Amino acid sequence: MSYLVQRLTSRLMPDLWYFGVLVLFGVLVSSAAAQAVVRDTEIENALRVYMQPLLKAANLDDERLIITVIQDPNINATVLPNGQILVHTGSLRQAEDPTEIAGMLAHELGHYVNNDILKLTGKFAESQQISLAGIALGLGLALATQSPELLIAGQLLGQHVGVRNQLQFTRSMESGADRRASELLHRSGLGFSGILALNQRLLENYPDPAHAEAKYLQTHPLTQDRITYFARQLQRLGARSTPLGWQRIHDRVRAKLQGFSDAPQEVLMQYSEGVEHLPGQMARAIALMRLARYGEAIALMQAILAEHSEDGFLYDLMGDIQRQAGREDQALQYYGQAIKRLPWASLIRYQRAGLWLKKATSAHALAARDDLLQAVRFEPEVPGYWHSLAHAYRLLDESGEADLALAEAALLEHKPEQSKAYALRAKRGFSVNSATWLRADDIVKQVEAKRKGS
Ligand SMILES: [Zn+2]
Repeated sequence: MSYLVQRLTSRLMPDLWYFGVLVLFGVLVSSAAAQAVVRDTEIENALRVYMQPLLKAANLDDERLIITVIQDPNINATVLPNGQILVHTGSLRQAEDPTEIAGMLAHELGHYVNNDILKLTGKFAESQQISLAGIALGLGLALATQSPELLIAGQLLGQHVGVRNQLQFTRSMESGADRRASELLHRSGLGFSGILALNQRLLENYPDPAHAEAKYLQTHPLTQDRITYFARQLQRLGARSTPLGWQRIHDRVRAKLQGFSDAPQEVLMQYSEGVEHLPGQMARAIALMRLARYGEAIALMQAILAEHSEDGFLYDLMGDIQRQAGREDQALQYYGQAIKRLPWASLIRYQRAGLWLKKATSAHALAARDDLLQAVRFEPEVPGYWHSLAHAYRLLDESGEADLALAEAALLEHKPEQSKAYALRAKRGFSVNSATWLRADDIVKQVEAKRKGS
């Protein structure tokens, strides 16, 4: 796992989970506080697991929807025009049952299927920018630098998005998304208990009852209407149990988020030495790492791995702890064990490639190149992967490929002219009509066509 964090400069299109309700009443003090994107293989995988039956029910199971986790304690989620779904860590932490998250995802997917965002896009020219921001969001891992606790990816989103008040979905879009969610939840067999529980949680939790806004929320018909609607669906169509294995996945996600977000001393108090259940042990290991008590963290992880020797996510966590402890060779070994079990885990490959690249020999650069080629195959939209790939190619003296990788990165970062320049330079090094030449040529044409179009 890697807990990569990227700062955003403002909130993006809040949906009407909690945040949006306040906006409706105009009582929101707009917060331009930075938000961070969190990347973690295990957490992202959990969200994909919850999403899978819904995509299937929507006949979208071939579509690759990206789910991005935002560091924010409030329960919320939203969907961007490209279908990218943002989920707050607060949603994951507060939901006791994973079907609550599935219910939330079903609602966002409902907006996507109903084309609600495109309808808004017609209304607000700036939405286009939001779409672009959304694509870059969380994916600009180019400048990842280590900090004691988290990896911070330094790329700031330049253009921004001060349009949150305008970008509310209408009430009819909201109820339309709920109806669609209801269909998907029924067809997927996930049922309605989760989404019902989530809405009840919203009603109970937000905001602080001492605030005047609480009255708005608690009397606001939307959440109450939703509860009534889903309760009726539940009664009509019957309860379903949480899919097998999901609770175990979810408990680990919550424990990890707790380990990374809460004060480490508190985590250690809650999960004291000798804690027996795995999620608690994981949270404890993370807290120990954050306190730089690496010896204890590593010993605990060794004990965990002795019992769960086939669990790729645990090897990933161990790799992170080793790397944090400065034991890079050990980190490489554990990342290797993780990748063996999770060959699709582009983020872990990116981490491992970073360690190879530090060694800067051509054998290591080759290993890094191979990891990064896999990473961009599974997640082509991450500029940082392309930057690292370019770095590997440079070490290997393959300058055409390096330029092509930089052209890909610049394209994703919305720097078309720079992208074109790299692509043109790359082309000169390739034989005409080779696969790389054709790709470079595509990029040049794409940039030119876009310029004509705008
Ligand atoms: Zn909504």
